[in-house]
Amino acid sequence: MRYLLEAWNAVVERLRSAKSIELFLDFDGTLAPLRARPEQAHLPAPTRRVLRRLARRPRVRIWVISGRRQADVSGRVAVPGVLCLGLYGWENGGLPSLHDETLRMLAEARSALAKRLDGSAGLWMEDKGAAFALHCRGAEPSAFGRAHAAIEGLRGEFGRWLSVTGGDCVWEVMPRELRGKGDAVRLHLRHARSGALPVYIGDDAADEPAFAAASHGITARVGAARQTRAAFRLRNPSEVGRALEKLDLEVP
Ligand SMILES: [Mg+2]
Repeated sequence: MRYLLEAWNAVVERLRSAKSIELFLDFDGTLAPLRARPEQAHLPAPTRRVLRRLARRPRVRIWVISGRRQADVSGRVAVPGVLCLGLYGWENGGLPSLHDETLRMLAEARSALAKRLDGSAGLWMEDKGAAFALHCRGAEPSAFGRAHAAIEGLRGEFGRWLSVTGGDCVWEVMPRELRGKGDAVRLHLRHARSGALPVYIGDDAADEPAFAAASHGITARVGAARQTRAAFRLRNPSEVGRALEKLDLEVP
């Protein structure tokens, strides 16, 4: 797989000739470096500056699609003209509506997990209203093992209603009714101008369906080499900032 910054010639013509660019960006681990706790993550100032410039270009539309709640990610991006979507693209101006049974299963799974992990140091749960996450950054290996076992139990018990995605030191548990980032990207591309070029940059397992949804465009996965559906790689969020600066130079 090629590094996007080193293979820029392979994309430059497409960026210049596209009628419009639909730029989709993940937040944590992509725009913002990962931190021990999600509340510590912030958008680096140079990235905010380039997003501000890009958001003013009439040919560019920018979406930040995060697993966070919408208000949370909007507050952290805070760039006029950049639309932030929460809960993997499904929270936009209100929580998505879910079936009563799904909500009941979500609540049951959450309390079952909390009970199983009671007292395991370094693990903590984050309630996102229509989903929840189990964080294990900095946890002892024994606590990590307990978390892994508990998550597998959850998959078995609640797999009909809930899906579990493993990320970087985090498991995200969400209703199957929330269809994830790939469907969210597809939905927005349906409303894009013809000749629009999608660009998707993300770092996580939850971004993989979105790479597939934007595979006719330019896709890049951030972080260490691993199996991915993205066509290019970027090493870290500061390279994402540099890629956005290069992109800014290509769209007058
Ligand atoms: Mg991420």
